[in-house]
Amino acid sequence: MGFLQRVPLVVQIVIGLVLGVPLGLLLGKDAGQLKLVSDLILQLLRLLATPLIFLSLFHAILTTNIKGRLAGRMMWILMSNTVIAILIGIGVANLLMPGQHVKLPAAAAAPDKKPFDPVNDLLGKIPKDFLGPFSTNDIIGVICIGVGLALAIKMLKGGKFDAQIKSLETWVDFGLQITLKMLHWVFALVPLAVLAVVARVVGTTGFEPLIKMGWFVVSVILALLLMCVVYVIRLRLGSWVSIKQFFVGAADAFAMAFSTASSAATLPVTYACAKEKLKLREESASLGVMVGGTFNHDGTALYEAMAALFISQAIGQHLSFSQQMVVVLMAVIASVGAAGIPEAGLVTMIAVFNAVHLPIEYIPLLLPLDWFLDRCRTTINVVGDLASTCILDGKTPAEPLAEAAT
Ligand code: ASP
Repeated sequence: MGFLQRVPLVVQIVIGLVLGVPLGLLLGKDAGQLKLVSDLILQLLRLLATPLIFLSLFHAILTTNIKGRLAGRMMWILMSNTVIAILIGIGVANLLMPGQHVKLPAAAAAPDKKPFDPVNDLLGKIPKDFLGPFSTNDIIGVICIGVGLALAIKMLKGGKFDAQIKSLETWVDFGLQITLKMLHWVFALVPLAVLAVVARVVGTTGFEPLIKMGWFVVSVILALLLMCVVYVIRLRLGSWVSIKQFFVGAADAFAMAFSTASSAATLPVTYACAKEKLKLREESASLGVMVGGTFNHDGTALYEAMAALFISQAIGQHLSFSQQMVVVLMAVIASVGAAGIPEAGLVTMIAVFNAVHLPIEYIPLLLPLDWFLDRCRTTINVVGDLASTCILDGKTPAEPLAEAAT
């Protein structure tokens, strides 16, 4: 066990990926039994998705100070970026149709053929009672309650309940840390799930589906790169920071994001890059990186939308235009509720799948690719945080340019 702890998770996942092939070949059709392993991990992820989204949204709204015109501008920059990211993801997925190249092995549960009804399906999610969504693990209902509660408590700040609110913040943070700790236990099982998924796919259907998943990887990377182009254009139009200054000054943060697959762990480096290398104003750096970094996960949003479309194409349960719009909406919410830790996007993806009746049994099939795609989308998350911060800083530098350029 101690030995395993010393091996980085990414190495364990790659080992799982490699060993899955001979295991699948050895077991042949019997490898189908390994579905139990990925089902178990999915069940655990499902269990933790609701508290994670509730607590991280509740905590973020309660503890961040979003006030004034600068905050309004920031919200606009962040929200518009997230929506553009998802639309790019959906556009690329519709154009390249990566799912059509893959024929996925059947899930235990038959695809939900119930016709989609945006009014009933979405309005019906507004909770009718306070505790119901928690007991039924209804993520949208839980989000509604969490946001409403946090906003109401926030409005009471600065009055006679300040002491209670302070202690509540500590308790919520405590709850969040407990959830994250448990989530890390589940993540420790991910290499095993990867081994099981690869062995099952190789054993029951051969190599083809795995190789064809390459289309999905290429599509996601293309979409992430397009999003990077959008950041560059917005930076050029809305900030005094030049493109060269941006990529040179923020390189440490991008490298850290790619190597840790965690935008939260990268946050101190992101802040240092904004303040010390890019020489952005204190208020822009704090608001853009600290608040933006908490809420903003454009790469995650883009990925969740693409994953939903990919699976829907692969199982022939194509999503209509209105369903794809629901995917946009849910991917915004799910990405805001995603914690900046490795694989968090996979957890909140459950909400996106549920909203359009896609069977979540297929999510573990993305695991063998996720160790790599997670790094790519985390890097884009951090590029987005810093680009938004530069735009927030405006068109004139705080210090003369000669000093600012490093
Ligand atoms: N790993 C991502 C981050 O830290 C979240 C995710 O998409 O899984 O920002």
